[in-house]
Parts: sequence; C-alpha cells; structure tokens
Amino acid sequence: MHGVAASGEHNGAVRYVAITAVGPAGDQGLDPDREVREIRVRGALLPGLVNVHCHSPMTLFRGSAENLSLDRWLNDVLWPREAHLTADDVYWGMTLAAAELLCFGVTTTCEAYFFEDAVADAVLDAGSRAVVTPGVLQLPGTGSGDDWWDVRTAQIIDFHARRHGDSGRIEVGFAPHAPYTVPLPVLADIAEAARRLDALFHIHLAETEEECTRFAAEHGDSAPAVLARAGVFDGRVLAAHSIWLSDEDMAVYRRHDVAVAHCPQSNAKLASGVAPLVELLARGIRVGLGTDGPASNNDLDLWEEIRLAAMLARIRQRDATVLPAAAALDLATRGAGLALGRPDLGVLAVGAKADMIAVRLDDPAFVPLLEDAQLIEHLVWSASSRLVTDVWVGGRQVVEAGRCLTVDLDEARRQVEARAHRLMQVGV
Ligand SMILES: [Zn+2]
Repeated sequence: MHGVAASGEHNGAVRYVAITAVGPAGDQGLDPDREVREIRVRGALLPGLVNVHCHSPMTLFRGSAENLSLDRWLNDVLWPREAHLTADDVYWGMTLAAAELLCFGVTTTCEAYFFEDAVADAVLDAGSRAVVTPGVLQLPGTGSGDDWWDVRTAQIIDFHARRHGDSGRIEVGFAPHAPYTVPLPVLADIAEAARRLDALFHIHLAETEEECTRFAAEHGDSAPAVLARAGVFDGRVLAAHSIWLSDEDMAVYRRHDVAVAHCPQSNAKLASGVAPLVELLARGIRVGLGTDGPASNNDLDLWEEIRLAAMLARIRQRDATVLPAAAALDLATRGAGLALGRPDLGVLAVGAKADMIAVRLDDPAFVPLLEDAQLIEHLVWSASSRLVTDVWVGGRQVVEAGRCLTVDLDEARRQVEARAHRLMQVGV
C-alpha cells in the first residue's frame, strides 16, 4: 500500500493538483500550509499512462477499413469519410475514446485530428488530459488552393491562443499529416509557427517503405534529411512511426533531438513494418508508445503496445535480453512524457501532475511473487489493462472500480453508433 499526497493549487481561476509527496503509507512529508488530499490504494499505484500518438475520434471508423494497405485504407475509406465529419461527430468519437482510454489507465493522449475545439471540449468534459495537435491535411472535397494551407495554419495559431493551457489539461501543438501529403514549404512554415510558440510539431514520418522510396525519388534524399535541411526539425518535433530509417536518418533525429512515437500494433496490422526501436533507444533518441487511431489498432489499450513493443524488438534483434519489462513500461510512462517534452507526465514524483492509476495485485497474473522486482515483470508480461481499477487525473478520480465516472457511456455509445452508420453511407 502506498500513499500519495496531492496538493491543490490555484492558477488564476483554474484549480489544478500536483503531487507533493510520494512514499509508503504513513510517510507523508506533507506541507501543512497546503490543502492536501491523500490517496491510498490497495494494490500498486502507477503513473497514468501516456499515449503519444493517437487519433481517438476515429472510434467512429473502428472496424470499417479492414484488411487494406495503408495507402488504400486512407484514400479509399478513411479520407472520403473524414471529409464528411462534423464537430459533433468528433466530440462524441473523442468522448467514447476518452472513456475507453481512462478505463485502460491512459490519462494523457497526444491527439492529431480535425475539429480541434471539439476534441479539447471532449477531453475536458471527460476529465482527461491531452496534447491536442490539430491536423493539417487537404481531405478530398474539402480544402484546396494554395492559400488553404495558410488559412489552416492561422486557424491553429488562433486555437493555440484560445485553448493552450485550458483548465491545466490541454496543451496545443501542430500536426501536419506527412511529407507526402503536405508540401515542403508548408511544413517549414508550420514548423516555424510551432517554434515561435514552443509548441509540439507532430508528424507521420517514414511509415511505409513505398512512401519513403517515392519521396526520395522526388526530392533526391530521405524525408528526414530533407526536412532537417528545411529547418523543420529545429523545434520540438515528434515523428510518428519512423519505421523506414537509415543510419543517417537516425543520426539526423539524434542531432535535432527528434522524438519518436512508436506504434507497433498499428504498424503490424497495416503491415507497414517494425520500427528500429532498440537502435533508436541506443542512440539516445526519445521514444514513447502510441496506439494510433482506433481504426487501425483497433482499441486504445496501451498495455498491448507495451508488450508488443518488447516482443517485436526481441524478434527484430533476435535477442531475448533486449527491452526488459521496466524499459518497456517506461515507453508508456516516463519515456512517453519525455517524448512529448513533458517531464511532468508519466511519473509519480514531487511536482508531477497527479495523474495516477491503481492496479489490482490480487490476480493470478501476479502469482508467484518471489521478489519485488518481479512486480514489473508480471505487470508487463502477464497482467494487463483489465487489472486497472481506479484512475485519477490532476488528483480528480475519473475511474472507480473499473467504471468511468465522468462519461455517460450509454449515451456516448449511442451517439457514436448512429454517427458511424451515417458516415458509412458517404463515398468519395
Ligand atoms: Zn497516425
């Protein structure tokens, strides 16, 4: 049993909660001048998991584009349907996803999607936390023309001004889709805007071999090399997938401190490949785990990514000693926070956000426990999301005994079901 003291503080009109002491029950180290609540749990208390690459509102498209290559999946099914989305669709898709994420113990997601106000509203209403990085992508039948890119970038700058820091739970960044869908000068402009605001620049990079081959033929070099030369990597950059990287590309990442969002399950399901996780970590590149959207995963269970990341790394290296359990768990907690440039996430430490999860230990998955160190081995290799019982975000309890307290799940299910049926009818 552990005790965590969480202290309420005021930031303008916004109340937020940070951890002020961590330790065994009874060893509180409390500051008597602060309002303090102590959280005690049966079982293990862990930091809330951090999902660094997600398009959560795609719960609306779960299961609707199966057995396709990434190229056909995007062009034939996803993008034509996304062009018909409304803000309310996105709100409900995000709301259902937030309940799913919270019940799995995921307290922060880095979201790349459209209708960013609806995403932020749903996250706040669900009591969750997110880095909201509005997507920049010309969907078929919607945006077009050269000035569209400038208009969209200006929208995101305005969104940053309005919503960054909202309720202490929303951070705002930028998410131009990929180097093969967004022109290079536009990427450079968005990167500069992001840099000016010290905001995260979040992009899909080197996801398929074909995309990389085509880009190199067109630009005479790899996407990482070309983007680095264009100044795109000079700020806070998070590159999702990053599967097809050469040694030189990884050196570019290291030099520019580009972080990687590793999405092993989405990459496996879409047959995109296996990212060079061990090589990235060995070079000191920051890596966090992401589920990707629920249309390519198809759930938002980050625990599956933890286990699959370790397994695929071992297969790729043909070495059972790489990525031990603690290192795998780190990719969804502390390492994920660092990949986002957020050392206050994914840790139970004084000054960190009071985002915490309780995991039941009275399950066969934890038997036998021969020494304390085995706890993490069992957590990663035999336990899973089903043992998460309680969840707090910013010190506020949002899941109790496995039930999400903040979302009307029946209503969210009904809304997403009806909206998904409507979107299924639309074509190109
Ligand atoms: Zn993605």
